[in-house]
Parts: sequence; structure tokens; C-alpha cells
Amino acid sequence: MAPFPDMTGDLKSRMPDLRGRLLANQTLDPFTWFRVGGPAQALFMPEDQSDLAYFLKNLPADIPLTVIGAASNMIVRDGGVPGAVVRLGRGFNDVAIKDEHRVLAGSAILDVLVARAAQKAGIGGLAFLSGIPGTIGGALRMNGGAYGGETKDVLIEAYGVDRQGNMRTYSNAEMGFSYRHSGISDDVIFTGALLQGRAGDSELIAAEMAEIKAKREASQPRNRTGGSTFKNPPGQNAWKLIDDAGCRGLTIGGAQVSELHCNFLINLGDATAADIETLGETVRERVKVHSGVTLEWEIKRIGIK
Ligand SMILES: Cc1cc2nc3c(=O)[nH]c(=O)nc-3n(C[C@H](O)[C@H](O)[C@H](O)COP(=O)(O)OP(=O)(O)OC[C@H]3O[C@@H](n4cnc5c(N)ncnc54)[C@H](O)[C@@H]3O)c2cc1C
Repeated sequence: MAPFPDMTGDLKSRMPDLRGRLLANQTLDPFTWFRVGGPAQALFMPEDQSDLAYFLKNLPADIPLTVIGAASNMIVRDGGVPGAVVRLGRGFNDVAIKDEHRVLAGSAILDVLVARAAQKAGIGGLAFLSGIPGTIGGALRMNGGAYGGETKDVLIEAYGVDRQGNMRTYSNAEMGFSYRHSGISDDVIFTGALLQGRAGDSELIAAEMAEIKAKREASQPRNRTGGSTFKNPPGQNAWKLIDDAGCRGLTIGGAQVSELHCNFLINLGDATAADIETLGETVRERVKVHSGVTLEWEIKRIGIK
């Protein structure tokens, strides 16, 4: 795959005070749950929120910007992602217990670690997060939810940096949440969230989390997948429509519709992003022919083919 022109030298000279790592043509596949995908033209890993704000303030407006979390809901296409890709890590990984059963979490921390911190502190209402493999940033963008809980049910406010480099705070209402969606502009990068839990019993919450884990392990593949591929159409289950259209186990190249849960696509080991996306589009066509329903992708697809 031909790499993109290296623009990191130019960016660094515009940003002499940048502290985070900025890498040219960094391959993204190890960072994605599917383990597929091409390079980022410029991958930036900021040190902290002010480093991120400085980067965005000085990033020319015509350079496309993409943010990835754990990439557990994402196909990064084989041709890679032009422009700047931001991946948050250290510096956005803190979790702190606050008064009134609240939890303040950085956006790069995994949801399961937030659920565990809350459980240890005897804070209930956040155990559902333990079933979602992504980060808090991804949960804010996707209104992540499982087992009866959704991000919108527990969010007090979210913190972020906009494309111009301004620090912003968004109330729950301003987040414009709907099913697996937030209405906040795609070029806002979330940096943290204040979550509201409730008084709970640590042991009971631990049992609840263990039950979620067991249910997950019995019913879903966990690795080399992107979670639910398509949104459930109102009043219907995507997996049932896919099963009825005869797609369970359907294989294209190294990608397969999971036998365990047919709204999940899996990388059998040597899939390309193109195999996975083509398989998804094939499923959509077969479901449309079989039941007349047009499935909508839940998985985000980024980059060029
Ligand atoms: C095995 C498995 C099971 C899953 N089960 C569930 C489930 O039960 N419920 C559920 O809701 N989801 C589920 N998912 C999907 C996925 O885990 C969630 O959507 C999760 O919230 C995505 O988080 P992420 O950090 O991986 O985001 P990514 O996949 O990296 O990104 C998803 C979107 O969020 C954006 N984003 C990521 N970080 C930020 C940030 N800091 N600021 C702004 N935007 C950001 C990205 O640009 C992209 O648009 C599952 C996935 C897998 C692999």
C-alpha cells in the first residue's frame, strides 16, 4: 500500500510547542478490534487536554480530522485514513470517584475500568458499561448501551475540544443522544465525562457484572469483531433479519458472519477491511431482498478503500 505524503514535518514546524507523539503513516490495524486497516497519514497522540487543544488550534482547517478510541465499533479501510488521526491514551485515562455517587472519567479509559471503579466504590447504575469493550469517548459518541443501560441515562456532562481548539462542556441535553448516536459535531473530540451513579452494594454490583460477562461470553464473539454491525430497525432485531435471510456463517475472503451472533462480523484471521465491508454490504442486500428492510450500519467505516 503506497503511504501518504508525510505531513508531520510541516505540522511540527507549525506547532513548536507540541508535546504528544506525531507519527507519519502509522499503521492502524493493531489499534483496531478487527485487527485490519491501513495507515493514518498523521497519527497524533496528545499528552493531555491542553496539548490536544494546541494541536487542533494549529491544525490547518483543510486537513481532515478523525478520532479513534478502542476502534471496537469501526472498520478502518485498507487504503488508510488521510489527514490527522487522533488517538487518546495516557493523560485521558484517569477515573475519580466524586461526591453524590458520581464518577469522573477520562475519555480514553475503557468502559469496563469505569464500571469496576464504580463497583469498588459501591456505586450502582454503571455496571452496564462493563459489557461494552470500548472507551468512554466511544460511549459518548455512540451513546453506548447494553443490558438496559445507556450512556444517555447516566451522563451529567461531557467535556471535549472542538475543531478550533476550544475546550467545551456539553450537558446531557446538548449531547443530542438517540439510539447509538450523539448529535455533537463529528469533529469534536471528547476528553472526559461526569457520570451519575447511585448508592449500591459492591458485592451485588460485582455479581451483576459477572452475570453480564457470562451472558456476553455465551452469546457473542469477543475478538476480531466490531460488535453489532447494524442498528436494530425500530421494533425489529437486526440479527433475526440477517438469520432469516440465510446469512449466518456467510463468508467472504477472511470475513465471516458470526455463527454465534449473526449481527457480528468476524475476521477469521487474514481478512482485509474490504472483505469485512463487502460482507456487510452483501448482508444488507440479502436482507433487503428477503424482508424489504434496509439495514443501517452501526459500525463506523473510515478511510479510503
Ligand atoms: C465484542 C463487542 C461487543 C460490543 N457490544 C456493545 C454493546 O453491548 N453496546 C454498545 O453500545 N456497543 C457495543 N460494541 C460496540 C463498541 O464497543 C461501542 O460502540 C463503543 O462505545 C465504541 O467505543 P470505542 O472507544 O471503541 O470507539 P471507536 O470504535 O474507536 O469509535 C466509534 C466512534 O466514536 C468516535 N470516538 C471515539 N472516541 C472518541 C472521542 N474521544 N471523542 C469523540 N469521538 C470519539 C469515533 O470517531 C467513531 O465515530 C461492541 C463491540 C464489540 C467489539
